[in-house]
Amino acid sequence: MTRHAIVVGAGLAGSSAAERLAARGWSITLLDAAAAPGQGASGNRAGVLRPLPSLDDNRLARLTRAAFTHARAHFHALLADELPLRWRQTGVLHLARDEKQAATQRRVVEERRPPAEDLRFVERAEASRLAGWPVANGGWWFPNGGWVDPASLCRANLARHATAIAAHFHCRVARIERPAECWRVFDENDRCLAAAPVLVLANASDARRFAATAHLPLRPARGQVSHLPATDGTAPEIVVCRGGYVTPAIDGIRCAGATFGIDDTDTVLRTADHAENLVRLDAILPGYGAAWRAETLDGRVGCRPMSPDRLPMIGAVADPTAPIPRQPVCPLAQLPRQPGLYVIDGFGARGIVWSALAGELLACLIDGDAPPLPADLIDAVDPGRFLLRGRAGTARRQPSPPGDD
Ligand SMILES: Cc1cc2nc3c(=O)[nH]c(=O)nc-3n(C[C@H](O)[C@H](O)[C@H](O)COP(=O)(O)OP(=O)(O)OC[C@H]3O[C@@H](n4cnc5c(N)ncnc54)[C@H](O)[C@@H]3O)c2cc1C
Repeated sequence: MTRHAIVVGAGLAGSSAAERLAARGWSITLLDAAAAPGQGASGNRAGVLRPLPSLDDNRLARLTRAAFTHARAHFHALLADELPLRWRQTGVLHLARDEKQAATQRRVVEERRPPAEDLRFVERAEASRLAGWPVANGGWWFPNGGWVDPASLCRANLARHATAIAAHFHCRVARIERPAECWRVFDENDRCLAAAPVLVLANASDARRFAATAHLPLRPARGQVSHLPATDGTAPEIVVCRGGYVTPAIDGIRCAGATFGIDDTDTVLRTADHAENLVRLDAILPGYGAAWRAETLDGRVGCRPMSPDRLPMIGAVADPTAPIPRQPVCPLAQLPRQPGLYVIDGFGARGIVWSALAGELLACLIDGDAPPLPADLIDAVDPGRFLLRGRAGTARRQPSPPGDD
């Protein structure tokens, strides 16, 4: 087979998939409707990089821990190649919302025993010192976490293999088909934009526009971030989360967010949402939000591509028209797939953390390499799981909040 793939979407998902395939010698035709990489959900000024521990070390926790480690290694590699990624390991403080949650956070650290450089529980006094602001509770301290400029990560991914990745912008894919051995993608005027044996869909919730992937339960969730004018070097100089997040000042702007509106795709900024973010900010750092008025704030809106179980979709797309074996022993392995069609999507509120590992996993699945995750986690992110909903071992919902912290 020709090692040529079309990737639709140049956000975190598409740029990571393209980068990992190009690293294996594939040539990539990358198509995006926008004018540049990282203009959709991946276009915020900054987002949070941190793991998601849990008492039972569930699949979401394990996946995110693996992804966090992988992302940091990927970032180091990009910077070693002098690529223009912007991220800072400032540490991330996740404050407990009350004493009950603080007790749970303490237990997670005591029982799971993570290395102290990855995670510690800090009491209220230390948390206040780290934040540079008096806070109401202690919380989890992730010294290796930080903020990431996601569009810079997209650009760095593509720049790493600038010869192998032919990126085309202002190209909206309206239709896909596989008449013979190749996938062909078409624009709104039914002009063929590209043809290749492998097609990777990384166009967020828009992937549902294609008949071949219309069965994937992707939904957009609007999120508005508020931009707070701030002087560099003022507190907090770390990322602080608690039902939302606030970043350090980055080029004179602190990001505070974010709202969450399922199936809302309106990209116009709302004063009411800035007001909501200021309330959220006050819950993180009491009294901090008083310095700003919602009416005067700028910000940014993006739509997270959500999946119903809060886990991403990475792998070969199943064929929803083919009969599913009635009592399969190994259901996902037996699901009929659409040849050459892959998806990397459903990153929800975690794309900054997940994308590097997701890109590597997808490239391994396409190229037949040893995958970077154990089999149960590969099954957990298999896009075919939704066709088996209700059958044993599939599509369990993770006990995870939808928010970005
Ligand atoms: C407000 C907000 C805060 C967030 N905070 C965090 C955080 O703190 N930490 C974290 O880990 N994650 C966070 N996220 C989540 C993260 O940003 C997303 O998971 C990630 O950006 C999704 O990447 P993507 O590539 O799937 O989607 P996108 O970045 O939206 O990329 C999809 C691309 O596909 C293109 N496209 C769509 N349709 C077509 C088509 N038909 N043809 C061609 N191109 C098409 C679009 O132009 C776009 O470039 C946040 C998201 C939001 C919105």
